[in-house]
Amino acid sequence: MMPNEIIRTEHLTKIYGSGETAIHALEDITLSVQAGEFFAIMGPSGCGKSTLLNLLGALDKPTTGEVWVAGENLAHLKNVDKFRARTIGFVFQLHNLLPTMTALENIEVPMVGQGLNHSQRIERATQLLQLVGLATRGHHLPSQLSGGQRQRVAIARALANQPSLLLADEPTGALDSQSGEELLALLAELNQTQATTIAIVTHDRHVAQATQRILYMKDGRIVDDHRITDPLEEDLRMLAQSKLGQAILVEGDAPLYQINAEEEAVLRRVLERIQRGEAVREQASEQAKGSYS
Ligand code: ADP
Repeated sequence: MMPNEIIRTEHLTKIYGSGETAIHALEDITLSVQAGEFFAIMGPSGCGKSTLLNLLGALDKPTTGEVWVAGENLAHLKNVDKFRARTIGFVFQLHNLLPTMTALENIEVPMVGQGLNHSQRIERATQLLQLVGLATRGHHLPSQLSGGQRQRVAIARALANQPSLLLADEPTGALDSQSGEELLALLAELNQTQATTIAIVTHDRHVAQATQRILYMKDGRIVDDHRITDPLEEDLRMLAQSKLGQAILVEGDAPLYQINAEEEAVLRRVLERIQRGEAVREQASEQAKGSYS
């Protein structure tokens, strides 16, 4: 691994089943993530997002290829449970909080057996509740909290053992848009203030755009990997990947009734540009320079 690398995968594949019914969930995933990155894994349902997240979290093993997380080759771990408890925090779409325990107790659970006594655990759980903005809700049961609040407790629980990597699978999937926004803001803040590397699996582009880097998967492969720099570029990328964009690029001869010929020509030029991988950003900066000269 490179010095500041927290995740490295080499030619990762995952095949479920065998023979004719085998499903190739991942095909040759090679990936490098630096410590402190906040990134999203996107792509259509069934493209392998959760499978990749599970491999990064040592919840499952690859068929071939290797994964290193926080300096460890996951294939060589002596105690996977211990590694996971200390290094990785998980947040799922459904919070999985224990219903008969209070928010504080739920956050305390993963700390049991990790070297802190009861009062130290309560102290840390209290700090974490504060960190996620729920200082006054420690003694509430999950059923007495809103969906967004429960997800915050789940994040606090995931952070209990100061993981170097937080893996979130559709964490906003079950939330209304306002709670989803707040949760994203919280994750971005945790990424900044706690220096936690965060991976979010999402099918929601808006969620992905709140991160710093988007990996786009299709049929088990990473087909696009880019850093978010410019909202305009993001919009254009979204256009290029949209049904309309694909219709123009792929089914170029099919008539498009919703837009006129001039609009279509402009869109076609823009989309082709993006597909050729040219930096739209550069063009924008050239234009900006031009406007000053
Ligand atoms: P995503 O998270 O992008 O929706 P998944 O990683 O869940 O995709 O799944 C990738 C592919 O692997 C899908 O075709 C899915 O049906 C298949 N798959 C996932 N888990 C299993 C499993 N435990 N057994 C068999 N096939 C699976």
